[in-house]
Amino acid sequence: RVAKEPPVIRRLNEAVVNRIAAGEVVQRPSAAVKELVENSLDAGSTSVSVSVKDGGLKLILVSDNGHGIRYEDLPILCERHTTSKLSAFEDLQTIKSMGFRGEALASMTYVGHVTVMTITEGQLHGYRVSYKDGVMENDPKPCAAVKGTQIMVENLFYNMIARRKTLQNSNDDYSKVVDLISRFAIHHTNVSFSCRKHGASRADVHTNVARSRLDAIRSVYGVSVARDLMEITASDDDPSRSVFKMDGYISNANYISKKTTMVLFINDRLVECNALKRAIEVVMQQLYLKHQSPLYICLLHFHLSILLNQESLVETIQSVVETMLMNCNTTRTFSTQV
Ligand code: ADP
Ligand code: MG
Repeated sequence: RVAKEPPVIRRLNEAVVNRIAAGEVVQRPSAAVKELVENSLDAGSTSVSVSVKDGGLKLILVSDNGHGIRYEDLPILCERHTTSKLSAFEDLQTIKSMGFRGEALASMTYVGHVTVMTITEGQLHGYRVSYKDGVMENDPKPCAAVKGTQIMVENLFYNMIARRKTLQNSNDDYSKVVDLISRFAIHHTNVSFSCRKHGASRADVHTNVARSRLDAIRSVYGVSVARDLMEITASDDDPSRSVFKMDGYISNANYISKKTTMVLFINDRLVECNALKRAIEVVMQQLYLKHQSPLYICLLHFHLSILLNQESLVETIQSVVETMLMNCNTTRTFSTQV
């Protein structure tokens, strides 16, 4: 066989490049909701409501009562790498907010239609403006507005036919969105959250500004679930290492569920960690019934400069949980014997 001539290498056009990159940042509707809610929290909101149509493919609407967006900032709001959360590289050490890459909103404008309504403190009216491919489609129009910002994303992935089809056929993202808002509600007890299908009068998640974490858990998972939880705390203030603090809840032997739920926040960021989830399941199954799955809510705080070694972290947490569950198991057996 004669070797073929190598094919010519060409540059993809910019629109395609931007769309591909955006599709990576926002992989599915629930990921867009997560970014929008994190922005609302960063804006100091005490109330965040989410409404979603067709699992987010038709519409995602996130409304908050945060500090709003300045009129002068609207032109570059949805450009890539524009952020108000990082002014110098050194800030990376002290950054407290959940975003600073300035990519989320921009990405949404490459794969959906984004409209922003916002008002800042002391203004008589707000502004409404739509974005496409990173830029404003028109000058911001004055509009009536209550405190804060509303961001609407319509027809997500309208220009990514294959992605849209896959998402339409798969179980829609609404349950993922509900789950996400539930998790935020448990962690951010000083913020009230709601989440509903667009047009529905009943919200599927609704929390008031809760007095305690347990109150928040009650309103998300129900009174009976909250009753079967034990508080769990641990800290490691070995000065040679950075400070590590854990507080949370774990279900006791009465809690019955087929699947494990783990709500994990590390330094106030909602994260997934399958290794930890697995490690907790192993402990539960050794101590409780074979197929009992735990509900585990864990809030971890680290000094920001800590180098996270996942394996040793998982082991530490696993042994804390194990010790605690073993202790309360003996108490229980003891008291029934008496
Ligand atoms: P990042 O959050 O990483 O800065 P985003 O693309 O998510 O990037 O947002 C860009 C900027 O838009 C933010 O830095 C913030 O200034 C502003 N912004 C976005 N959403 C809101 C909101 N709900 N309230 C106030 N400002 C917002
Ligand atoms: Mg953001």
